This record gives sequence, C-alpha cells and structure tokens, in this order.
Amino acid sequence: EHIARSLAALGYVPALSADLCDLVVVNTCAVRAKAEQKAFSLLGQLAAVKARRPELVVVVAGCVAQQEGERIRERAPHVDLVLGTRAVHRLGSLLMQLGTRFRPLVAVEMDEPPDDSVKAPGVEGRNGVSRFVTIMRGCDNYCAYCVVPYVRGRETSRSPEAILHEIRELCTAGVREVTLLGQNVNSYGIKEGICSFAQLLEQVNSATDLARIRFTTSHPKDLTPELIESFATLEKLCPHIHLPVQSGSNRVLARMNRRYTREHYLDNVAKLRNSCRQISITSDLIVGFPGETQTDFEATLDLMQQVEFDSVFAFMYSDRPNTPARLFSEPVPEREKRERLHAVLALQDRITAAKHQRLVGSVQEVMAEGTSKRPAAAAAGSGKQWTGRTRGNKIVHFIDAGSDADADLIRPGRMVPVCIERALAHSLWGRLERPDASPGRR
Ligand code: SAH
Ligand code: SF4
Repeated sequence: EHIARSLAALGYVPALSADLCDLVVVNTCAVRAKAEQKAFSLLGQLAAVKARRPELVVVVAGCVAQQEGERIRERAPHVDLVLGTRAVHRLGSLLMQLGTRFRPLVAVEMDEPPDDSVKAPGVEGRNGVSRFVTIMRGCDNYCAYCVVPYVRGRETSRSPEAILHEIRELCTAGVREVTLLGQNVNSYGIKEGICSFAQLLEQVNSATDLARIRFTTSHPKDLTPELIESFATLEKLCPHIHLPVQSGSNRVLARMNRRYTREHYLDNVAKLRNSCRQISITSDLIVGFPGETQTDFEATLDLMQQVEFDSVFAFMYSDRPNTPARLFSEPVPEREKRERLHAVLALQDRITAAKHQRLVGSVQEVMAEGTSKRPAAAAAGSGKQWTGRTRGNKIVHFIDAGSDADADLIRPGRMVPVCIERALAHSLWGRLERPDASPGRR
C-alpha cells in the first residue's frame, strides 16, 4: 500500500499487465524459501519483457531485496532498483535518480530511520472500507527459525499521535475498519516507554470513528491480562486474535526460542475465552522443525484438538539464511514434513468444518466489503453476491434481492445482519436478515 501510494503520487496508474507497463515492482517475502524462489522466478519472466522493452523499470522490494542487496544482480541483472525494507518511503526520489545507470541502485541500509510522516489515504487496499495501519516495524525476538529480525531490523514503535492521525484520515476517506499491524504488536511501545498496546487500543477505540478494530500479530509471551481484558471492554475491538503457537511440544518451543510453554499458551487461551466467550483464535504452526520427533508432533496435534483453533496457517520448516536453526542437527526428512503438514491440515479442516456448522442458524453482524465478480448463484434471483466478514473474521457470502430497499441497506462498510445458512470449507453462506423479518434464531 505504501508503494502504491508513492507511485500514485508520482502520477503512475495501475497497468493491466507487465507487457504494458512502464514500471514493475516485485514485492517479496523471505520468510520461507518457496516465497523467495517464486520471487526469482517472476524476476526471470520479467527479464524476457525487459529484453523486448529495455525502457521497462524493474524494482525489487521487500525482504528478499533487503536480504540479497547487491547479490540480486548475480541472479537478476536486469533489476534497476533494489528497494530495501527501510527505504520504501524513498521510492519516489530513488526512481528519479535511476537515469541511465548500468548498475542497479541498491538501497538496503538498515540504520535508515523509519518514515513516520502521515500520508493521505490513497486508492489502494483490498477494498475502500478496510485498511492496515502499521504501528511498529521490525522484531527483536529472534525465534531460531525466523529471518524477520535480519531483514526488518530492530523493533520500533510509531507514536500514538501518528497512528491516531493516520486512522482519522482514513475514517474521513470512508474507512470503517483497521487492522493494526506489526510483527509483534503486543510488545508495542514497551521499548520506547510510550504506552502499552492495550492502552493504544483504548485510544483507538475512543478517539476515532471506526466501526471495527483488529490487530495482528501477537506473541504469546507478551499477552498481558490488560490486553485480554480489552476484548471484554472495548466495543469496537473485534473478537479475534491471531496467536501463533508454532508447536505444541515444550522441547521444540524451547529450541525455537519462543519463550513460553504449552501450559502457558493453553492458560492464555482459557483466559481469552473467559474474557470473551465467542473469541476466534487462529494460529501459525511449523511442522518438521529440526529435531521434531513423532512424539513432539503428536503434542502439536493434541494441542490443536484442545484449543480448537478457528483456522491455522501451517508451514513446513524451511532453512533461512543467518538463522540459528539452519545449523541445528537432526533435520526432518522432506517426506516426513509433508506428511505432518497434511495431518495438521486434515485435522484443522475437521475442526473448522465443525465450527462453521455450529454457526448455521445464527445471525451474524457482517461488514459488507464488496460484491463478488462471480455472478450470483443462478437460483437466487437477480441480486448481487456480496462478501463480508463477521466480527470473528469469518468470510460470509450473501445475496441481495436486487431491490431498491436492499441497495439502500447494503453498501461497502455497512454492518448488515446475515443469517448463516450453509457452512463451506473456508467461508459461510448466508441470507440477509431484513429489518421486517421475524426476530429470533440468534
Ligand atoms: N511475527 C509473526 C509472523 C512471522 S512470519 C509471528 O511471530 O507470528 C509468519 C509465520 O511464518 C510464522 O508465524 C511461522 O509460523 C512461519 N515461519 C517463519 N519462519 C519460518 C521458517 N523458517 N520455516 C517455516 N515457517 C516459518
Ligand atoms: Fe519471526 Fe515472529 Fe519470532 Fe519475530 S516473533 S522472530 S517475526 S516468528
């Protein structure tokens, strides 16, 4: 979004394809080797475009740019600009400097201070009503498997004033929901002695016109009683927490340097549910961390069954440059990793299906986000198919009747009551509850 914003300010508009554009930015992720490979394969495809049209400007941004720096030239000599993670706000001026250089311009200094200036909201983002707002950058946790501290640098928190200012600007532009973003949001402000994350949430709750507040990602070791209590007291805060556990085995958690135990995690889950009965809890899991035995892995499956996450992102462990874990002994064979990943995903599918099924018949507050490109289901008449999210972050599709009354009722950013009729694997299907419909079924 920051990149799109800077480019829009320079007069760029989105192009339909790489064949038609003047400039292409490949924004990359270095968290797993596969994402990095994908970035290089896309850069490879762009080499052919650049051979046909040498005036095309190729920028590589994000964590792979930061990690590789000058080395990008060896694998992708056609790249014009390597935009490191701390240099994003300088994109405009760096593009001006490009001129007719034969070597790429590389901006990967880690000590570059982050830019805290507030930008006018642009047209980018997944829709016009929901946005991400960065509240902190970097990470100091050094989990043994993770490249983030090396490519994003030290943790720094933005000031509450800058954050509130940005959110108010977004509200003026029609935004109804923000997701406060950071690698470890619940350690916000501690290092700088600004205020706690829970106090920041309280300010966002009381001093802005938002309808919904979300945040991601939280670290279990920094989950305070004050933050747990926020789910009971802050009316705009959505009942959803993404709380990556990574593993259910204490031995693996210690080797990962996660600094909490399985028991501590389960205790936090119980406290969260005590504070807010309907809270959605989602998580990240790594399978096949070096030294993970079958018994360790079964402890992860067991934890999943105890917690019943609403959904999980699960990953096969991937060796990353500079991280301590890449030197750890007892690597888990690829085949074993794949089998463990399948087992985790199959178990979670069963848990998610049961959770979704339990919502059938309930009426959920859904924030309408937009209409789907797919035509509405043929049997359902002439209305449009809408997509939105519940407060617990579940995706809901529903159809309007195509009437003037519905057009009045449903707009992007509006909260609409939807009765859930069908549970799908990754979403829910519902029917709009109209104000004149009979009450009940909640
Ligand atoms: N700061 C967040 C997200 C970090 S990256 C957090 O702490 O949760 C997102 C997820 O990628 C992590 O939670 C972890 O599950 C996964 N991940 C990170 N490094 C990985 C690696 N080397 N191999 C496999 N998965 C990894
Ligand atoms: Fe990586 Fe998250 Fe650990 Fe930071 S807290 S090192 S981002 S997994």
